[in-house]
Amino acid sequence: MIDLNINLDLLEGASSPIVVKLADLTKGCKKKPDMVKVRCSPNRSIFGNWCSGEEEVSIGFSPKFNIEEGEIWLIFPAENKAKRFFRPSSNSNTLLFTERCDQKCIMCSQPPKNKDYLYWDLYFSALKELPNKTFFGISGGEPLLEKEQLFELLRKVISIRPDLKFHILTNAQHFSSDDISELTSLNKNILWGIPLYSTNDAIHDKIVGKKGAFENLLGSMTVLYQSGAQIELRTVLLQQNVGYLSHIVNFIADKMPWISYWALMQLEPIGFARIEFLEKFYDHSQNFELVKLALDSAKIRGVTTKLYNFPSCTVNKPYRELSNKSISDWKNKFLDICSGCKEKQHCSGFFEWYNHTIGYQNLGTKYL
Ligand code: SF4
Repeated sequence: MIDLNINLDLLEGASSPIVVKLADLTKGCKKKPDMVKVRCSPNRSIFGNWCSGEEEVSIGFSPKFNIEEGEIWLIFPAENKAKRFFRPSSNSNTLLFTERCDQKCIMCSQPPKNKDYLYWDLYFSALKELPNKTFFGISGGEPLLEKEQLFELLRKVISIRPDLKFHILTNAQHFSSDDISELTSLNKNILWGIPLYSTNDAIHDKIVGKKGAFENLLGSMTVLYQSGAQIELRTVLLQQNVGYLSHIVNFIADKMPWISYWALMQLEPIGFARIEFLEKFYDHSQNFELVKLALDSAKIRGVTTKLYNFPSCTVNKPYRELSNKSISDWKNKFLDICSGCKEKQHCSGFFEWYNHTIGYQNLGTKYL
């Protein structure tokens, strides 16, 4: 597990939140004119230099953290904390600015809390420092609860950094026809990740814990279609919806053939998913038939499909190429049985909180 929050044991020179981009002073990085120098405590860190602010600051942190050159940190002096906003080697740099959500999905991995982190200027300063062509995530909570501020941030960033792309996870409850021109102007730079859990409105609503959510979702999809938006439609595999997978595929083919692709995702066993886990988790390694049927339908109907969080050895061989290394690096692990496995470099592996005693029954290299 990689720490994304760092407790600073030395912080001098900053009184309000700042952005720091770490660089190795030993490589002779040049200080940009609009940036000030950051001194790191010599015993604590091999990195120094750069931040967007007006002061010279000193920071120190434990040498146990494996820090990369080019990381971007948000530093919060009041709490003596740094948040690792961007790590160059990560497969999932993500901004979370609210933990509030108006849905309550039965398998939510990050149950909603009444907490916001609305540092828009700071995020703007950090985003404009990203490397060329970075694909950056925005998640929650529900980010569209702060729709106006989010759109403004995206507008400002994309106007000066059109090379950046964003993957934004939203429950698609908050789009309206008034957003079409804004969405149209942003659509080249955004892939919206949108959940659809069943074609049966009552079942979808029950899974997301909100009456009328399915209907709102369809209204939003019309707005997104009219905006030319790029969509990743996401379905978490559950006992509650496994019987609907083929219906979802046909629904996409009939009503939304314009989406970019459909992502079928295995359950992340944390948060609400842990409550009555065995009544939600569908072990496809024991019975792949309904998943197979849906994947076959998707192929026939021309629906591009990806499997997320499916360990390779749990997937029937002809469908294994659909599996992705989808788990964020900071919470990704492999098991002892994976050592020496030839598939490991392509395999999603497991969430850090995966508990094998209640997980996949048919697992390991003998199933490859
Ligand atoms: S044995 Fe481990 S690394 Fe190999 S395919 Fe299975 S889960 Fe992936």
